[in-house]
Amino acid sequence: MIRLQRDLGTAYLFISHDLSTVRFLSHRVAVLYLGVIVEEAESEELFARPLHPYSVGLLASVLLPDPVLKRASAITLEGEIPSPIDLPPGCSLAGRCPFADAQCRLEPPRAIAVGPTHRVRCYHHDRVAALDQTVDHFDRFQADSNKLLSVGAGLSTSR
Ligand code: SF4
Repeated sequence: MIRLQRDLGTAYLFISHDLSTVRFLSHRVAVLYLGVIVEEAESEELFARPLHPYSVGLLASVLLPDPVLKRASAITLEGEIPSPIDLPPGCSLAGRCPFADAQCRLEPPRAIAVGPTHRVRCYHHDRVAALDQTVDHFDRFQADSNKLLSVGAGLSTSR
């Protein structure tokens, strides 16, 4: 798929729960939760600086390509996923989000621009930004992804 994308200039709409594959294939990523885009950014930006609690939780679940690497989990999402046919009145993640407050439960947040190509739908994205998400080795995963995207070849095993 990467070779076709490179050689033919083809665009894909690729839908997956596997963010490691999404990272390999995508230039731009939209994160959906219960049918709503909660965050959208260039792939590199979203993986390096996720600003929505759901994006952070998803990234923490990515399997890294080395058994000794482990991504730190800055946010744990617990609780039940609401029924898509009976959503709560405010933010759909409020029942699972550690930052949820009364405002979150009252009204769904609008998408706001947090960068030239980065939009997020969360009242407290600044609190997510303040989390320490640097204590892991995800940069190596990103470096391998970049190599694959730039040459369309397999992963390098060099460190
Ligand atoms: S709007 Fe509130 S409940 Fe929804 S993701 Fe942001 S902090 Fe969590």
